[in-house]
Amino acid sequence: MTSHQDPNLAAIDAIVAKSAAAAHVWADASASQRATLLRGLADALEQHQPDLVAIADRESGLGEARLNGEVARTAFQLRGFATEVEAGVPYRRVDDAAVAGAPPAGRPRLSRIQRPLGPVAMFSASNFPFAFSVLGGDTASALAAGCPVVVKPHAGHPELSRAVFTLAAAVVRAQGLPEGLLTLAEAPNRAAGTYLVQHPSITAVAFTGSYQGGKALWQAANARARPVPFFGELGSINPLVALPSALQHDSEGLAKTLAASITLGCGQFCTSPGVIVLLDSPLSQRFIAQLAEAIAPIRTHRMLTPGMQQGFEAAAASVAELARPLFAQQPEGAGPAPRLFATDAAAFIANAHLREEMFGPAALVVTAQSISQVADVLDAVGGTLTTTLWGLDADSEDNRRLLRAAQRVSGRVLFAGVPTGVAVCHAQQHGGPWPASTAPQTTSVGFAAIERFLRPVALQDAPAWVLG
Ligand code: NAP
Repeated sequence: MTSHQDPNLAAIDAIVAKSAAAAHVWADASASQRATLLRGLADALEQHQPDLVAIADRESGLGEARLNGEVARTAFQLRGFATEVEAGVPYRRVDDAAVAGAPPAGRPRLSRIQRPLGPVAMFSASNFPFAFSVLGGDTASALAAGCPVVVKPHAGHPELSRAVFTLAAAVVRAQGLPEGLLTLAEAPNRAAGTYLVQHPSITAVAFTGSYQGGKALWQAANARARPVPFFGELGSINPLVALPSALQHDSEGLAKTLAASITLGCGQFCTSPGVIVLLDSPLSQRFIAQLAEAIAPIRTHRMLTPGMQQGFEAAAASVAELARPLFAQQPEGAGPAPRLFATDAAAFIANAHLREEMFGPAALVVTAQSISQVADVLDAVGGTLTTTLWGLDADSEDNRRLLRAAQRVSGRVLFAGVPTGVAVCHAQQHGGPWPASTAPQTTSVGFAAIERFLRPVALQDAPAWVLG
């Protein structure tokens, strides 16, 4: 299908043309212009926070407390990237002076600079209507890098997306910047979303969502005549290993903390702990009972969309065919009742269906017979945003083995606490081997996220005016 036959595609052509027209202006914008825009967007969000949160709550059901926290996070991110820009991160340059003589020691004068990629197509996530949506981390980091952003809003919060976009467009206008810096492409069907990814003027894609959707769009990006980088976060089961030594004291408190993490936001977090790995021991048995007791009575709020709930029920039913439920399912509240299943390490390793994400309030307890089998369980996970390791305080060969396994499969390794809650800072890493990320050498949370949208260029023997 071409844009001549379909008005939806023609609309995308017009939007991407505006974005492409703004690309040169924004690539050459000063740090002060970029920082002023990012701060202006943060201010606009906060000025309209009560109205925006009301819309978001109506559309997502996530609750005012959570959504107000998300606005604060989103504004913090925008201002944080403004500070990065002012610190010169996207403008940094590495210089090598010329060296006389024959190669390899002899060389011309070289300067390595960073240039923005160009227009970025950004697919909003369903589960963070602010922080991973119109003005979320992908948009903030791309704008900071000097790239215009074409937002594909998520169908789960259309009114909020339009409201935030309208505010943002007013800020862009008020600052005298080109309207193509931030555009909204309401691709009404999947063909239109694919068309956007394959548009010749789009130079990179940022995506957060399902494995199936992300893989389809990643393939579309790679099937282009000129493939472009695709920064996708596709799914994660976030194993949490609790060794018996961690369960000696206050295991009941740990069980309550873990139950709250599994059911937080009705389990709709990319970092929700979905697999609990325990060594076969009496302390583990006690912990399983405490976890079941803590999680069973929790009442969840409604899921983001009916489709999401259907997806959760289907995923939980598929695990239920292969694993044992740890308690009889409780009556539902506004959202689905929590589930906890149990299996052993051999079954988990042998059966890929047990390793599929249950996006909702559920987890699978996996019992292993040895440290080596725990490491095998982590290897079977393959790729995940996080791995949590409780009880690795001592330096021992077993603990080093588990750490190696955790680092092999995940972008973030925790030694305490639970994986839900992802701090926005310089050291953060939110990614991991496929399917956690399609680009595991990058992060989608934290200030290093800006690097995704910068491309190095080496300038050899450049005249003075080029280097400025
Ligand atoms: P999704 O179905 O992957 O959709 C995300 C975005 O990608 C939407 O804008 C969607 O457009 C688009 N899209 C999906 N498949 C496409 C395709 N084949 N071609 C073109 N565009 C496509 O994700 P979701 O709606 O957020 O959630 C669905 C499921 O994803 C959840 O039930 C959950 O299992 C999982 N999920 C996981 C995470 C995580 O962090 N791990 C986060 C969110 C969701 P349309 O609106 O046109 O469909």
